[in-house]
Amino acid sequence: MEKRHNLSKSGVIEEIPLACSDELAAVEFLEKQRWGNTPACVKCGSVEVYKMTDAKTSKRNRRYLWRCRDCKEQYTVRIGTVYEESRIELRHWCYAFWRASTSKKGVSALEIKRHCQISYKSALFLMNRIRFAMAPDDYRPLLTGIVEADEVYIGPRKPRYKGTSGQGSAINKIPVFCAGERGGELRRRIVADVTAATLQAAIREEVDSRARLMTDEYSAYRGLKKTWEGGHETVCHSTKEYARADVHVNTAESSHALVKRGIMGIYHNVSHEYLHRYLWQFDFLWNNRKLNDGERTVLAVRAAEGKRLMYRQPYGN
Ligand SMILES: [Zn+2]
Repeated sequence: MEKRHNLSKSGVIEEIPLACSDELAAVEFLEKQRWGNTPACVKCGSVEVYKMTDAKTSKRNRRYLWRCRDCKEQYTVRIGTVYEESRIELRHWCYAFWRASTSKKGVSALEIKRHCQISYKSALFLMNRIRFAMAPDDYRPLLTGIVEADEVYIGPRKPRYKGTSGQGSAINKIPVFCAGERGGELRRRIVADVTAATLQAAIREEVDSRARLMTDEYSAYRGLKKTWEGGHETVCHSTKEYARADVHVNTAESSHALVKRGIMGIYHNVSHEYLHRYLWQFDFLWNNRKLNDGERTVLAVRAAEGKRLMYRQPYGN
């Protein structure tokens, strides 16, 4: 089950359009991504398995069942994945995986509803689980090298101003922290606030203390200069300084811009409760931006395997 096949460079892109329109092609595409050339039993791991066929037509069983000669279990490729508990056709899953993995900003449930001609509820179900498949693993190594840390507010374009306090612009907006390894992985998370205590704790949870840390001059990062082992350098945006040699947070900022445009333009705003799922998707797309579209789609499809059992509130409907 833990085995991962190398992402094949060719073939995938050609196979995906058919898998998005024909159910058998979709099933076979997902089977191939999951098992490669050695299909195995989902219950006992035996490779003594076969595709069940219809007695009359000797074609593949209508439910695309497999059977294990060792434990006698019958199963399909859906078992143990994010699509196990759905009746939505797998060709729609393939289409949604493809679209969600190949646009810089992802795809909305509304678009999936229209293109697949399924209900909005089904489209939401699909997209929620695909975003969950794109969620990072629980155990990830700390970021190293040069790491940019930055915070951003995500929310409505026109915040409701309440009174004249300086925080007025932040009302209705959700603070998001981001740490990104220069040339490497980027991680975003919703934070309760943007105080020094919160942001510096987030930095320590994501970043190796020997990394060279770069931020803007925001007061919450003060104090790191003295304590951060790998050194902490800042750019001063208030004096229109955006980069000084290799000191900048441009990577984090350009990825923030993408998220903001995506949330407003594609998803037309996202509530606090659901934002983390969209952040998973944006991070997945950003972190795998160097793969081609087929490779990125396959990566998301494979990530869906084994995620079902972890699918619990608050990630449910
Ligand atoms: Zn078995």
